[in-house]
Amino acid sequence: MLEDAGLQALREAARLSPDNLPLRRHLGEQLLAKGHLAEAEAELRAALMLAPRDPDVTAVLAEAFVRRGAYGEALTALEPFLATPGYPPRIGVVAARALLGEGDFGRAAYRYYDAVTRDPAAADPEIASALALPATPAASSPGPGPASPPAAPAPPAPSPAGPPAPSPAGPPAPSSAGPSASFPVGPSASSPAGPSVSSPVGPSASSPSGPSGAAGEQWRHPGAGGQGDGSAEVERARTTFADVAGMDAVKESLRVKLLLPLQQPELFAAYGKRAGGGVLLYGPPGAGKTHLARAAAGELGAAFINVGLADILDMYIGSSERNLRATFDLARRNRPCVLFFDEVDALAARRSDARNTHNRQIVNQFLAELDGVDQNANEGVLVLAATNAPWYIDVAFRRPGRFDQLAFVPPPDAGARAAILRILCRDKPLAELDFDAVARATEHMVGADLKGVVDRAVEVKLHESMRAGHPIPMTTMDLLAAAKAARPTAVREWMATARNYVLHSNESGAWDDLLPWVKGKW
Ligand code: ADP
Repeated sequence: MLEDAGLQALREAARLSPDNLPLRRHLGEQLLAKGHLAEAEAELRAALMLAPRDPDVTAVLAEAFVRRGAYGEALTALEPFLATPGYPPRIGVVAARALLGEGDFGRAAYRYYDAVTRDPAAADPEIASALALPATPAASSPGPGPASPPAAPAPPAPSPAGPPAPSPAGPPAPSSAGPSASFPVGPSASSPAGPSVSSPVGPSASSPSGPSGAAGEQWRHPGAGGQGDGSAEVERARTTFADVAGMDAVKESLRVKLLLPLQQPELFAAYGKRAGGGVLLYGPPGAGKTHLARAAAGELGAAFINVGLADILDMYIGSSERNLRATFDLARRNRPCVLFFDEVDALAARRSDARNTHNRQIVNQFLAELDGVDQNANEGVLVLAATNAPWYIDVAFRRPGRFDQLAFVPPPDAGARAAILRILCRDKPLAELDFDAVARATEHMVGADLKGVVDRAVEVKLHESMRAGHPIPMTTMDLLAAAKAARPTAVREWMATARNYVLHSNESGAWDDLLPWVKGKW
């Protein structure tokens, strides 16, 4: 069956990249969508072993519980998130579904409204209709049309300190306010995103929690339909290399490889050199590969297309290849453009490892697109890709004109951690801050972990400030407290895997850059 072939391709990709969390989550989602509940649950539980506190995996797993009527289990899984102010809206929507299953309309309405107020895109018509409430708060604002009466008590408007969140799934919602009460975007909605957020970027801007909310402006390209249809989005990156701390060697090689040929074409022409070829960024998850790629686009003033697996991998044979082609075409129409493939190991796995022809065809199509129909096809298209598992990638991708340069994006050392923290804390009310002390307390943490630490500290501070009625600057102690509560993600495990490849499978010398790193103490 076609459907089974598509799923099989995903299973195969997950088998080849067992550490690839987004891929395994995607597989779990697809299994769930196709009704393979038990397998979906097993897959998602395994994914949670990789990242025990991943909100997205937890949300999908909770959805799986809800699908089989295990509402209590779903709420137990969601509880740690629901107890934290500013939890991801998706978590709130799944909680609402579970609460509905338990017949708790009041709390379901509370969770649902809190979620969609912060992210209207999370709206779910099915839940809204079960609650007999308008789908989104915007739809509920007093308007010319007659408002339908509520069938369930509406949630209280969030207090200045954000929605209260007692366990397990929020308070009942005794409120006289009907659904037409306004639900102002509460303080927790303005997620302490990245440094460059200063104002909303328009109606089509991504939500604050979106991958580029902090750093870029997005719009759908014409004809874009959604996930899985080759419809990656074009962004205008607003970050540059100045927003990327450390990584001087990688930045320099990107400059020479990607930026200078475009900025000084005459010089390159004089030496008979053409711009071209891509760069494969590899390193532990969260070390800043995506951040760096986006900054490269910003540095160049080029468009940025961030391609995720869900934009390409499709259940139906032939569709993934078409999605790849459509994505390259989108980049060609937007040149100069940085085309960035995240988790590329799933699209470029060694063909000898691929058990089914579907995967091999995706790899062949990818190679064909990189080569282009003629030598000008990809002019002005700079292809970057990122992987946590470079050793799974077919060597054909490393030939000239393809990903002919490998660049290791290392976990940050203490100096780089201090610099990252400085960037992440920019534009926030700060007391005198000892970034070096915080850097020392965050050993083995990568950029994504540090962002989590700063986000957590900012949220605590925000609530304190709201109670006090004036901004209270963040201190070293705040960051240290947040760091203590956090744990580094998978750097140590990643280094252990990398060590195996470097020591036992490095005949070509491809992993030489890793040598000094894997010899260190992790
Ligand atoms: P990866 O793609 O390697 O998994 P990301 O690029 O998604 O990692 O990094 C996660 C977040 O960590 C980024 O959005 C950014 O906020 C922060 N970050 C990571 N590395 C750096 C860095 N060198 N300088 C500043 N911020 C960083």
